[in-house]
Amino acid sequence: MTEATGTPFVLNTDKGLETSLRGFLRQLLESGNIGALILPLKVPSGDSFAWIMLNDAGMIDDAVPFPATMPVQGAKALRSLTRKERGELTVMALMRPCEIRAGIELSKLGQVNTENLILATYDCAGAVPLQSYVSDPAAAEKNFKEFFITGEPDQNAKPICASCTDFSMVDSDIHFGYFGVREKGMLVIPGTVRGTDLLKKMDLQTASGSELLPVWKAEVEKLTEKRSSVRKIVFKKTEKDISGFTGMLNVFENCIGCHNCQSVCPVCYCRLCYFGSEASRTNPEAMVNEAVKRGGISLPPDRIMFHTGRLAHMSLSCVSCGQCTDACPVSIPVADVFSFVAEQTQHTFEYKAGRNDGKPLPLRDFKKSELPGVHKLVKDAEPGGTSHE
Ligand code: SF4
Ligand code: SF4
Repeated sequence: MTEATGTPFVLNTDKGLETSLRGFLRQLLESGNIGALILPLKVPSGDSFAWIMLNDAGMIDDAVPFPATMPVQGAKALRSLTRKERGELTVMALMRPCEIRAGIELSKLGQVNTENLILATYDCAGAVPLQSYVSDPAAAEKNFKEFFITGEPDQNAKPICASCTDFSMVDSDIHFGYFGVREKGMLVIPGTVRGTDLLKKMDLQTASGSELLPVWKAEVEKLTEKRSSVRKIVFKKTEKDISGFTGMLNVFENCIGCHNCQSVCPVCYCRLCYFGSEASRTNPEAMVNEAVKRGGISLPPDRIMFHTGRLAHMSLSCVSCGQCTDACPVSIPVADVFSFVAEQTQHTFEYKAGRNDGKPLPLRDFKKSELPGVHKLVKDAEPGGTSHE
């Protein structure tokens, strides 16, 4: 949880959290301080949600600020908007913390431009798996409401949500906090100078949230502790499961190579993926030779290499959103594996994905001062060669 950068305000929640938040968003749009909003709306069939950018305040009544499921990771919506360049209008996006964190990762990769974006988050109780929502939206909404109230993802939530420790205020410009205080109101907390300035411009005539802030913080800390304990258990199991090459083989033995996990991942950033490229196409002769040498090979090839390759590429940016597990047709716990490995790689580089603390994404750029070290590593790796530099 990051710290507030200014005085928080309290929104009246007598008519419910969603109504209260919609009222604030309408006021924001009508004040002219924001040109448009990016929010989830239910699709006409009622069995999913879509991201909509709207500037008609009348449409806000149709928005669902706290959607029960997560069909398209929000960072992908942000990328589609600003990949080419920043827009002229100031746009505010309200998304789950893992979506905003993925957006921040993409901004470090030059794939999202946050210059004219106001990033807003809310306390996230978790999300229902997309398949559960699509197969029975009414039951999924009911299940969602149950853990939305407690803030504790249960067996009906995406498995990763129970072990997520970044479910509340992250490095967003504005955060809406309601855990532990919902009966008294919803906190509007500025998280950056940009967020503070925006709230100042709005001149909200509402009560100060200074008194509720410690109550909310205590609840978030309590929930974080619970989720941390689950995370430790999940990671311990995952570490055991994927240990060694046989472990990885066992976990991914049912993988059908559909690459769904990759296409839904918000931080799988390569513009041209090796696994979809010409270079990845295998020569039949080489495959037959390999089969002769080993007695047999599995087809399609490279299933484990696909996952290890992806891990090597993007585990520094994995935000544990769970979209990969959600999209896997054969129920492989992809997100558990990726989150576990991500925690190790991020720890190695003293880096935390989704933080907007000025730290660049490790390995993205070389500093000139780092080059002699790299040169030495290469020299040492050469057969028989030990660098004397
Ligand atoms: S690897 Fe999975 S959990 Fe990690 S960011 Fe991608 S979709 Fe989310
Ligand atoms: S979504 Fe599942 S089956 Fe498809 S490539 Fe990923 S792990 Fe394999």
